[in-house]
Formats: sequence, C-alpha cells, structure tokens
Amino acid sequence: MPKETKDALNRTIKNFIWEDDSFPRIANKTLRNPITEGGLDLLDLEVRNKAINIIWLKTYLNFSPKCLEWAIVTDLIIKAIAPNSLNKRAIINPFLQRWATPTRGTNALKTNNNIQRMIKVAKKFNINLTAIRITPQLSAQPLAWYHLSVEPRVVNTTAAKCLLEKHQTYTVAELMEASARIRNPSPDNPYRQSTYCQYRPCRIDREKNSINPDKCALEAKRQIELILPKLNPMHQGYHHRNLLLTRMRKGQNIRVRVETVQSSLIPQ
Ligand SMILES: [Zn+2]
Repeated sequence: MPKETKDALNRTIKNFIWEDDSFPRIANKTLRNPITEGGLDLLDLEVRNKAINIIWLKTYLNFSPKCLEWAIVTDLIIKAIAPNSLNKRAIINPFLQRWATPTRGTNALKTNNNIQRMIKVAKKFNINLTAIRITPQLSAQPLAWYHLSVEPRVVNTTAAKCLLEKHQTYTVAELMEASARIRNPSPDNPYRQSTYCQYRPCRIDREKNSINPDKCALEAKRQIELILPKLNPMHQGYHHRNLLLTRMRKGQNIRVRVETVQSSLIPQ
C-alpha cells in the first residue's frame, strides 16, 4: 500500500474516532488492543500491510512447479538488479543462495515497490532457509554456487565458468556428478588427471567443449568441500549429524532408564 494511501486511511480512521478533537486522550496503540483488553480492535494498517507483504513473500517462495508466473518474472527482475560483481549465470534466487538483493541505490530503483516491500519484509523478519536435519538427497538439491553455507566468494575461475557455461552445473548434485571421477578412485576407474584423459566422463565433457575437464572436476570437488558439514552430502559422518545415538549416548540412556525404574520401585 503506498504511503499516501496509508496516511489518508489513518486520517480517516482518526477523524471517525475523534471527530474534531485535535488532542486524543487515548493512544492509538491502546485503541488497537482487543476489546477485552480495553481497546477497540482498531485496524493497524502498519501491521496489516506487513502481513500482506509476508503473504506475497510466502507465495513467491513457493519453489514447486506450481509457483505462479509473477514469481518467475520477479526472479528475473531480482536477478537483473543483482550486484554486477556476481556471476549472473550462477545466481538463481537470493533466498536459496548467499547473495542479497539491493534495496538501495540505482539498481534498487529499477524494481517496483511491491518487490521492494517484499524484500524488505524478508530482511526485517530474517526469512531464510533452515532445517534441523536434512537428508543427503535433500542436501544435494540446493544450488551449488553462492551456497548458503559458504562464505561469499567470487565465481570467476576459468573452471568455475566452464562448469556453469559448458557443463550446465548448478546444483550440489550436479557438482557431485562432475567430480565423481576424482572422488571415487579405484583400480576400475581409468580416470587420469590429464587434459587428454580418455575416461568416458572426460570425453563427454570435451564434447561439451570443455577444454580441461580434469580441472573442471577438481573445481567441482573444491566447491563441494567448501560446504559446511551440516549441508554437505559428502561430509564424513553426514548421517550422524549429532542426532543419532552414539555408543556413549545409548549407555547414558540405559543408565537413566535403570535409575528411573529403580526410583519408581522405591516405596514413597
Ligand atoms: Zn569444463
């Protein structure tokens, strides 16, 4: 809601309640309280507008195939105004990656007020992707570049650009696939760290015009290694996540159970 409209509505409400009284004796804050708490349940436009913006944001953050067309267009606009220092091919969505949409400056002026309000409300309430525990399958789905758990860093090496432009590598799962030849060494794996490696994945990469597939595979591995353990499907001990019962915790649980049974058997 534009500020002028909000101010006009607030004036109308004030006039209705107080008519010509220029010095109301009850604060608006009190009037907005529920009737049971001594208020009039008066409409709080500020809060109502924030709620509307949050609902817009919720709709925008629907990343399923059912997302609405305006959300797709919004993504394109946000991407267009992203800082020039970012690799435009690598950025997809600021809520799924670690980069921010400008809310000030020349680029911010290129967006409409609805987008700005939505971005600001997300910042205000610190909206971000979070989960207590993520399965390996789910942790492979996030976008690989400007990963949420990785400190912001430039994406400008030749190998990184090649991974993006020629290998079309965008997600963690795709990085895993691109680096599998290095991560799974075995006598049966004929991969050689050479520009002329004849292993099938390297040949396929060269068909995509990748000049140094071995360097690209190394870069993919390096990107995965930057991801923090909690969101890293390749991290050793990923399946434990500090949530499974270790031998010591199982022992502690048994001890507590025995003590509980013993104390319940003592006559009170
Ligand atoms: Zn390449």
